[in-house]
Amino acid sequence: MSAVILLVEDEEKLARFVELELVHEGYQVEKSGNGREALDLALQNHYDLILLDIMLPGLNGLEVLRRLLKEKQVPVILLTARDAVMDKVSGLDAGAVDYITKPFAIEELLARIRVALKLHPVSLQESAGAGKEEGVLRWQDLTLDEPRRQVRYAGHEIPLTNREFTMLKVLLENQDIVLSRDVLLNRVCGYDYAGETNVVDVYIRYLRSKIDDTFGVRMITTVRGVGYVIKSE
Ligand code: CA
Repeated sequence: MSAVILLVEDEEKLARFVELELVHEGYQVEKSGNGREALDLALQNHYDLILLDIMLPGLNGLEVLRRLLKEKQVPVILLTARDAVMDKVSGLDAGAVDYITKPFAIEELLARIRVALKLHPVSLQESAGAGKEEGVLRWQDLTLDEPRRQVRYAGHEIPLTNREFTMLKVLLENQDIVLSRDVLLNRVCGYDYAGETNVVDVYIRYLRSKIDDTFGVRMITTVRGVGYVIKSE
């Protein structure tokens, strides 16, 4: 799967432009224009890299950076204003891996992203948090073993296709968070997917038939008009 980048930038035009370029390069992109929202997203989801503007509504980018890096490791590139030397220093002190000064050439940003992804890969182990088995996600008696690409319910192996496996993984990683069809579609099929959007519902149906129906549980909940969620309790 391609790297997933969270783009935090409140200047709409710039954000849209950078998003298009990143998608064109094959990255999956999620956007936020608000510091507080971005922090929540970054804490709840897996991102391979975060592009973080400093002057943001909601919560200042440096504060987002500090609070985020206290909780998890993820490479952050700061987007800073030309004369904000102190922001750059504070940002690097706070743990940003790099910064780029606005306005920037998109080629330079892309080069810095490639370097950051190469030098600071986010392993599944880190993103899964401390104290958990390496690469294993759980829900009740169900385990998803990422390294072995194996899903079991109470010891019984459940054969899943690649996309079913990815869909289940994304839902398990985000327990108690309702994921929209768009988010699931992007994560499972990639941003450039041009087929039917009901493909998400189709895979949910397959998962329910293989897991819920087979083992008599209610794992995946439909949130009408919004999307799907696996509730942790
Ligand atoms: Ca800004």
